[in-house]
Amino acid sequence: MKNRKLIVCSGPSGVGKSSVLKKILGEIPDSFFSVSATTRAPRPGEIPGVSYHYMDKQEFERMLAENALLEYNQYAGEYYGTPTKPIEQALLDQRTVFLDVDPNGAFAVRRNRPDAVLVYIAAPSMQEVRRRLESRGDTPPEKIEARLKQAQWENQQASNYDYIIINDDLDVCAKELLAIIAGSESAEHYTADKRISIFKEEM
Ligand code: ADP
Ligand code: 5GP
Repeated sequence: MKNRKLIVCSGPSGVGKSSVLKKILGEIPDSFFSVSATTRAPRPGEIPGVSYHYMDKQEFERMLAENALLEYNQYAGEYYGTPTKPIEQALLDQRTVFLDVDPNGAFAVRRNRPDAVLVYIAAPSMQEVRRRLESRGDTPPEKIEARLKQAQWENQQASNYDYIIINDDLDVCAKELLAIIAGSESAEHYTADKRISIFKEEM
């Protein structure tokens, strides 16, 4: 069984990844959230160094040249990447490490770290993703359309994850993620091969 120390979460923008992670991080002793580097602008309420390390393209490309990123990707015209060093240190310290990355990033992490546990956080429906993105109120309409289009592609990648959980009720979703991390028997219900048919019906 995988040692469940490196947890990689993906899912459509607006599905609630940050909300779920925020809810469970405090419940896991020694948890470590990998703060990504990005060239996108901070959203209202986001905290530099906590939500993301915000930087310009030049600085990001310097990190790339220095081989300082475990993986990176371009999303909606901006760079996003995972700094390697803090993750390596956290794993050495036996902490449970969480990543929030897109599917390309998740599969790149799996190639580098076969022990990674990949969890796809799905939405109850695409209408609900739209509603959540709109209600968050920080994404202009044309960007919402681009993110929804991207979400369709992301959903098609879900079968390649280890687990799929659906963020309908936030508390339930958080409990399911906790069960996966703990390696509980109930986590067997959320394996991608068991969940993919339900997930397809719901989309
Ligand atoms: P992501 O990190 O995936 O982009 P967020 O965590 O920012 O998504 O959530 C997007 C919006 O949806 C936020 O306004 C959040 O409060 C809301 N949200 C998250 N989970 C749920 C849920 N289960 N039910 C209803 N609204 C939710
Ligand atoms: P957002 O702009 O909504 O915060 O993130 C947009 C997308 O980028 C989400 O799918 C998120 O998971 C992904 N993302 C965030 N950080 C990283 C990263 O370091 N690497 C990759 N590959 N994707 C990331």
